[in-house]
Order: sequence, then C-alpha cells, then structure tokens
Amino acid sequence: MKRIQMSEKERNSRSKLKPHIGWGEFVRGSLTVRQHTCGTEGCKCYRGEKHKSMYLSRSKNGNLEQLYIPKEKEEQVKKWVTRYRDILQLLEKISDSYWERLKKKG
Ligand SMILES: [Zn+2]
Repeated sequence: MKRIQMSEKERNSRSKLKPHIGWGEFVRGSLTVRQHTCGTEGCKCYRGEKHKSMYLSRSKNGNLEQLYIPKEKEEQVKKWVTRYRDILQLLEKISDSYWERLKKKG
C-alpha cells in the first residue's frame, strides 16, 4: 500500500503508532493493587490503613503470570501498560480501515 492511497484516518493512526513502536517502551498486562498487613506490631496497617502493592499480570500460553511491581517502578509500569493499550487501539483502527475496504469491494 502506497502512502498516498491511504485514507486520512489510516495515515493518522500510523503516524501516531510510529513513535510508540519506534522508541516507546510497553508491556502487555493488567495492573492490580492488593492490600495487606505487614506483620510489624504497631504498624498503621493494624489500624486499618493497609499497605498497597501493585502487581502486573498476564496470561501466557494458558498460564497466569503475576509479578510484584516495586513502588519506585509503579508509575513507569503504568505508562508501559497504557502505551501497550494505545498501540492495540491504533492497530485496531488501521485494521478497521482494511475491513471497510474489503467490504466495499466485495
Ligand atoms: Zn504494616
């Protein structure tokens, strides 16, 4: 497909995709936050203010994999997860335009 033949929508999606794939870091997975108590007597978690830990999970080859994300990496991993989803959405948009094209031409 030559660039000139592409629809405006497709060109947009592809140019948005480029930096994500070119240099963006990303990871597929879901983030969950679990609450727990630490076992230290007198800690705030005993008064109901539980500690929060973030986990990244994915299913891979039919298995569920979970990974603890240290506090200092939480923000970074959130960005990676978001970027992966953005990439998927853009891919889906591009794919849609090909579905449309196939439908038109029968
Ligand atoms: Zn505690």
